[in-house]
Amino acid sequence: MAVSSSSWCGALHQYAPTCGAWHPIVHDWNPAIRIGVLNCADEQNTAICRDYGVQFYPTFRFFGANTKDFTQGENYKGETDREVQSVRHVIIDYLESLPAEHRPTACPSFQPLSSGDITSLFIRKKPHYTAIIFESETSYVGREVILDLMQFEHIVVRRALDSNKAMMEKLGVVSAPSCYLIHPNASRGLINIVNPLRSVFSSHLKSLPGVRKKAGAHSALPEKLPEEDKEEEVTWKDYDKSKLYTADLESALHYLLRVELATHQTLEGEKLKTFKDFVTLLYKLFPGRPHVVKLLETLQEWLVSMPLDKIPYDAILDLVNNKMRISGIYLTNHVEWVGCQGSRAQLRGYPCSLWKLFHSLTVQAAAQPNALANTEFEGDALATLKTMRGYIREFFGCRECAQHFEAMAKESMDSVKTADEAVLWLWRKHNLVNKRLAGAPSEDPESPKVEWPTPELCSACHEEINGLHNWNEKEVLVFLKRHYGAQEISLKYAD
Ligand code: FAD
Repeated sequence: MAVSSSSWCGALHQYAPTCGAWHPIVHDWNPAIRIGVLNCADEQNTAICRDYGVQFYPTFRFFGANTKDFTQGENYKGETDREVQSVRHVIIDYLESLPAEHRPTACPSFQPLSSGDITSLFIRKKPHYTAIIFESETSYVGREVILDLMQFEHIVVRRALDSNKAMMEKLGVVSAPSCYLIHPNASRGLINIVNPLRSVFSSHLKSLPGVRKKAGAHSALPEKLPEEDKEEEVTWKDYDKSKLYTADLESALHYLLRVELATHQTLEGEKLKTFKDFVTLLYKLFPGRPHVVKLLETLQEWLVSMPLDKIPYDAILDLVNNKMRISGIYLTNHVEWVGCQGSRAQLRGYPCSLWKLFHSLTVQAAAQPNALANTEFEGDALATLKTMRGYIREFFGCRECAQHFEAMAKESMDSVKTADEAVLWLWRKHNLVNKRLAGAPSEDPESPKVEWPTPELCSACHEEINGLHNWNEKEVLVFLKRHYGAQEISLKYAD
């Protein structure tokens, strides 16, 4: 199984107990399923992520055993939620679904025992323990314990269904899940476990006398790409929190055009429309340097001139990368985070810059009411928000973030009537996200997730009414227009 993740994806930092520590998910299941993790946020992996068609994170891909030819793997059961337990259950379902030729030879049987099978276990003495987990048909406990113990010697684990009432009664099993144990000396009985959880059953069975890991058992550690262990060094750049940096905005454009969107082989349908809208908006509103705006204009004109309803992304990349540099029209080809730098390499960066990019676009739309004249957005106060919504829905790699944003948009975006309201809507929603994520693993201690702007940045934005904090939204709007306005942007660190 391969998991494609993204080191910047905030939602995946919460997921880190799963991503970073695959250990507990499939601890000891290695002969049946091996896990590899691929970081698609790393530009070096863009091509391979594209080959495998990975566009959102996390993506789980399953590959049957003995697969020789290239395959993109299987998105088994579509999107898996990020709970460790759900991932384990999906793995089990997948293993059970495999045809014999793709089932790993080491994969144990999950087939429930019949009454006859159980009785025959009592007849002949075995040189090992046999544990039978009685459970309901929908329970995963038995199959998980079977996999947990598959690399242990002196024990075999099987499962039986609680629908076999007669056998349960005969053995004195009164509830499910329960574990019935047959000792090597043929004595047998129910294990007395108060808390009938998979982990409790497994650790009890592993602690039985003589039960130990088989010599040469596979390591429980997941397959890792070499760079996974490396903690990238961060060279800190001094910056002013009250400023917006061109380097962050241009790095956002570089990343989304050359990494995030580049995972697509072609753009068509809703994706192509969203991309065209986004480029139109950028060309008209991006508060960047002339050589970047000219590139956006060229890209927009090229897209409009293309009569195709399907565009290979390589053609877009070709235009962004090569055609223009000679004439002094170009976009930086690497990220240079300044106001978005993290104290560790996997913190902040791209999602931070995307927020900043969209805040600055809403502010530009409010500051230049005629900027979108003669485009299909003319007179549309919702143009920037709608385009942002489309981009996040169609392209933003962090699926969980996209779902949350879509829910917020659905709830109230339509109530926005003016460009100023659009600026404030996005500010409010961003603060809601900050509030929700405060204290989350994605929080950089150097940049805590607080409601923003802080009093140090804008004291007039904060008031108290009857002893309670209140935003002065008029002042907030003035502040946002200044902070994200074109005049205030710093060129420091922009190459
Ligand atoms: P960010 O929140 O990225 O903010 C970047 C900068 O914007 C701040 O440094 C500050 O200068 C400014 N800023 C802060 N608040 C505001 C505001 N209210 N108005 C204007 N400017 C402000 N991560 C998750 O884990 N779960 C999610 O559901 C999720 N949803 C997201 C949805 C979207 C649309 C985006 C773009 C990102 C989302 N993320 C989510 C990522 C997360 O919001 C942060 O971007 C990421 O964790 C990096 O945080 P940061 O500390 O750099 O600050």
